[in-house]
Amino acid sequence: MESQIHAIHQQLMKKEITCTKLIQRRLDLLKPNTHNTVNALLDEMALDLASKVDAKIENGETIGLLEGIPFGIKDVFMVQGTYTTASSDLLKKYKSPYTATAIQKLLNAGAIPLVKENCDSFGHGSSSENTIFGAVKNAVNTDLVAGGSSGGSAVNVAKNYTVFSIGGDTGGSVRQPAGYNKIFGLKPTYGRISRFGLMAYASSTDCVGPIAKSIEDIRIVLNVMSGKDVKDLTTYESKEISEENILNTNEIKTVGYFKNFIQNKAINPKIKADFLASIEKIKASGIEVIALDFFESETLVSTYYTLAMAETASNLSRLDGTNYGNRIEGKNLKDTYSITRSENFSEETKRRIVGGNQVLSQGFSDEIYLKGLNLRDQISESFEKDFKEVAIILSPVTPNTAPKIGDSLKDPLAMYLSDAFTVGFSLGQLPTLTIPQGTETGIQITGAKNNDELVLKFANFLKDII
Ligand code: GLN
Repeated sequence: MESQIHAIHQQLMKKEITCTKLIQRRLDLLKPNTHNTVNALLDEMALDLASKVDAKIENGETIGLLEGIPFGIKDVFMVQGTYTTASSDLLKKYKSPYTATAIQKLLNAGAIPLVKENCDSFGHGSSSENTIFGAVKNAVNTDLVAGGSSGGSAVNVAKNYTVFSIGGDTGGSVRQPAGYNKIFGLKPTYGRISRFGLMAYASSTDCVGPIAKSIEDIRIVLNVMSGKDVKDLTTYESKEISEENILNTNEIKTVGYFKNFIQNKAINPKIKADFLASIEKIKASGIEVIALDFFESETLVSTYYTLAMAETASNLSRLDGTNYGNRIEGKNLKDTYSITRSENFSEETKRRIVGGNQVLSQGFSDEIYLKGLNLRDQISESFEKDFKEVAIILSPVTPNTAPKIGDSLKDPLAMYLSDAFTVGFSLGQLPTLTIPQGTETGIQITGAKNNDELVLKFANFLKDII
């Protein structure tokens, strides 16, 4: 699929459609909420912005590439004056007092937000069933989950309800639902896009990520959101990625994949066979492919969940009904905290808070948390070594296809293991992209830190190869 952003931009400029009509049509598609993707429609704001774009076009002014382009926002991003619920009871009535940097940059470029999108509560999940707004339904088959945690965002893009959506990816939440719904989803290098105004899940791996139907649209949105932000000191200045650069695809000579991912007995045989067939096609195109050694996926999943739970327990401690959240009064202050949190957090979120506090507590933290940190360092070193040998690492996005709605809730451990192929790259803070090709749930293309351009370039190359 070619760039929708360019196509709509042309239509607006040539006055083939008014911005108001464009926005109204998309709002009409979102309103019935057929796939449970909508937490809140931003209809008033969107139509108001659209009329301003129309006035500019009427005046003969030129408009920017993103001006008037409708997009969606996962409901964990602050947008001033809108509800930001994190799909939770606790924040059901919470209104953002400010706007996230990444979203503000899109607003400054003229893009029009339509919807706050359903997701797993606080990003906790891989299926978008851990939500008070009802399980998000897969865009291709409504009996299946949408994937998570940015499930609503992926489905809205896949169904053409939004042109692009902005998700958050801590351990796979953009890439995995992109794979389950057959579209593109990028987790950029950690720090490339500011996290300011994205509700914190696990701060050391939280990333803002675009979801779209073409590599070109991912590139455009990524460029707009990137850059240093004084409000997030982990951000860095990055070079803009040009269209020409990512179209010139013949510089990649060597790629790798992890042998043990493919040999793992938990992988679906068809995903394995399709992935290996893609590898053969890549080899046939003249690229050298190296089978690499890596940590067992069970180790990656345990390391990720140890650290993610510790960080989320700490980050969510501020949600006690005092400054934020739906306060429920108890007999005394302690009781109030306890009832507010017990009644308003979901089972999955409570599991993570309890687990996180356990791994951080005296007597356990050396054994578990520090060990997790140590493993994470080893994982990063292993990536550094690999990227001396190969330019790109390829892997399936998921070991299995999307489960039926209801199944993941019955077996949280199986759900955690479904993140086996995405969490390692998060721990390494690497740029990694899901493309809807190669296997039923896509292929993940990963580059070295700050090599986001190379990732997009290789995605363009693979378009014609597999
Ligand atoms: N499924 C993973 C988790 O539940 C990743 C979620 C995310 O990236 N927000 O932690």
